[in-house]
Amino acid sequence: MILQTVLLFGPPGSGKGTQAKRLEISLRAVHISTGDMFRDHLSRRTELGLKIENLLKSGQLVPDTVTNEMVRDRLLRPDVALGTLLDGFPRNIVQARWLELLLGSRGYGIRGVIAMNVPHEQLIDRLKGRALKEGRADDADEAVIRRRLDTYGAQTEACLGFYKEAKKPVHSIDGVGSVDEVTARILKALGAA
Ligand code: ADP
Repeated sequence: MILQTVLLFGPPGSGKGTQAKRLEISLRAVHISTGDMFRDHLSRRTELGLKIENLLKSGQLVPDTVTNEMVRDRLLRPDVALGTLLDGFPRNIVQARWLELLLGSRGYGIRGVIAMNVPHEQLIDRLKGRALKEGRADDADEAVIRRRLDTYGAQTEACLGFYKEAKKPVHSIDGVGSVDEVTARILKALGAA
């Protein structure tokens, strides 16, 4: 059996995390969010958490070696055997190339790459709302939000080019609409509806 992974791309505020939680159930895949993993380290004040605190708070990416190692350790755990849903990884070309090698060596195939699209102004409004509700430090400051959006535009979107060139199934999804509507669009694109 070929193990399958779905990659979920979307700018901050696009609803990626919300969709991932629902897709985890529908696709019976294990949801792996690098952002959640880093925030967990931060809240437990682990050695890694202390190392990345300033980067997270200022909206910068964690160095690739640190991130890749954390993902590799996670993908070695036995619960991923059914398939995974990667959320927030890869975020640049270096991570994408590294992931290709890792998936190849473990017999994983890419079932689909989902790219969620939401207009910028709507993203900023959503993130400010999330800052009030969830108190995420990187959502509270508009300069930090803009930096994350710029990084997404400059680096993460380049990853989509990488997967298109590699002839992987990349699906562009309209992220505006109700949560249910967006989930339905993603499932349809993956042929899982
Ligand atoms: P968002 O998409 O809203 O920015 P995430 O929860 O995906 O939120 O990520 C939060 C932060 O965690 C990022 O701004 C970055 O500092 C760090 N991070 C998450 N994934 C990666 C990654 N693949 N590489 C480097 N840093 C990452």
